[in-house]
Amino acid sequence: MTTNTTQSVLDINPTDHVAHLSSLDYVNNHLTMEQVNLTKVAEQFGTPTYIYSKNAILQAYQAYDKAFGAVEHQICYAVKANSNLAVLQLLAQAGAGFDLVTGGELARVLKAGGDPSKIVFSGLGKTESDIETALNAQIACFNVESESELHRISKVAQRLGKTAPISLRVNPDVDAKTHPYISTGLKENKFGVSHDDALRVYKIAKDLPNLEIVGIDCHIGSQLTEVQPFVDALDKVIELIHQLKQQDIVLKHIDLGGGLGVRYTNETPVAVADFANALLPKLQDLGLKVYLEPGRSIVANAGVLLTKVDILKPTEHKNFAVVDGAMNDLIRPTLYESVMAVIPTNLSNAKNIDKKQWDIVGTICETGDFLAKNRVLSLSEGDVLAITGAGAYGFTMSSNYNSRPRACELLVDGENVHFIRERETVESLWEREQML
Ligand SMILES: *Cc1c(COP(=O)(O)O)cnc(C)c1O
Repeated sequence: MTTNTTQSVLDINPTDHVAHLSSLDYVNNHLTMEQVNLTKVAEQFGTPTYIYSKNAILQAYQAYDKAFGAVEHQICYAVKANSNLAVLQLLAQAGAGFDLVTGGELARVLKAGGDPSKIVFSGLGKTESDIETALNAQIACFNVESESELHRISKVAQRLGKTAPISLRVNPDVDAKTHPYISTGLKENKFGVSHDDALRVYKIAKDLPNLEIVGIDCHIGSQLTEVQPFVDALDKVIELIHQLKQQDIVLKHIDLGGGLGVRYTNETPVAVADFANALLPKLQDLGLKVYLEPGRSIVANAGVLLTKVDILKPTEHKNFAVVDGAMNDLIRPTLYESVMAVIPTNLSNAKNIDKKQWDIVGTICETGDFLAKNRVLSLSEGDVLAITGAGAYGFTMSSNYNSRPRACELLVDGENVHFIRERETVESLWEREQML
C-alpha cells in the first residue's frame, strides 16, 4: 500500500476521467453535472460545496435492484455513507430500505419517510432507547453484534410486550483485501460474532424471550473491488445456515452487507451485475430473501466536492495549492490514505499555464490536512476544482475542526439545483456554548 509520503505522481486526464462517471461531462470545456455548469455553481453558492446528482444516485440504486431481480430481495442503503434527508427521501421513494448503525440515523430515516419494514439496524452499541424506538417503529431486523446485545434487546422487547426480529452478524473471517481501517470481516475485528461462536449464540437467542430469529448477516469491509471475498463469505455463511437448520433454527433471510467498491481514479471494481451473477446461483439454491446494504457504491460517484484554489505556493521542494476545502470537509485522503481524483471545472483556464506537480492542501493546522498529493495540474489562483467520488463518506464525516463551518450540500436534477443543506455560519458554531 502507498503511504502518505510516497503517494505516486498522478496525471489524470479530466475528459477521460469523467467518461467513467455517468453524471459528469465537459461541455465547451466546462464541467457539468447533469445539465448544470459546476463553475457557475461555485460562483453562485460559494465553495467548498458538495453537489450530488439525483440521476446518478437513482441509477446506482436501480442497478442493484435489477441485478438481484432473480431472487426475493431488499436493497438497504447504508445511511452512514450520505445521510442528507433529501438523499434518503429520494432513495425511500425509489423503494430502498435502509441499513442504520445509530439511533440518530433511525430518526433521520423516519423523518425522510423511510419505510420501517425495510429497515435493518446494525451497529455494536445499540442503546436501550435506540432499541425501544426501533421496536416501536417495527423495523425489519436487528443485526445483532454480541451476546450481550441479545440480552439487551430481549429485555427491552419484554418490557414493551413486543417481539424483536433478530439476525446475528457473523464474522466470516475472510480477508477483504482493502484498507485495514475499512476491513471488518477478520477475526481480530470488533464487529460481529465469530464464525466459531455463532452456533452457540444462536442457541441462546432461541431460548431468550421476545426474540424471533429471522436471519443471518455479514459485512466484510468496504471498497472491495474483487468479488471473491464476497463469494468466500457467502460460502461460510451458507455453511452456518445448514448447521443452524440441524438445530431447528430456520431462517427467512440472508443479509450480505455492503462493501462493493467504486472507481475513484483507476480502480476496476467488479460491476454490480457481475457481483450479483457471482452470488445468485448460491442464493437461488438457498431460497431465502436476500438483503444487501450498499452505501458507497450508491452515492460515491454521484457526488463531487467543489473547492477553490486560494493561494499557490510553489516552494523549493514542493508546490502547494492552498484551497478553501480542507480535511474537516473531506477526511478520506488523510484517514484512509484515499486517492481521489481532482479535476478542474474549467479546462480553458489551464490552456496557457504550465503543468506542475501540486499538493492540494487546506489551511488547517495539521500536516494531515491535504486533499490530494503529487497531482499534475495547470493551476491559477481562483480556479475551481472538483474532487470526484465525494458523494460517500464525504459530508457525513465532516467536522467543525478549526471552527470551520461545514460546507453546503446541493442536489442536481436535470437543469435544476436544489439546496439540500445550507452552509453553516460561524455564529452557529457556538450556539450551544456558554460563557461563564
Ligand atoms: C458501512 C456499512 C455498510 C456500507 O458499506 P459500503 O462500503 O459503504 O457499501 C453496510 N453495512 C454495514 C453494517 C456497515 O457498517
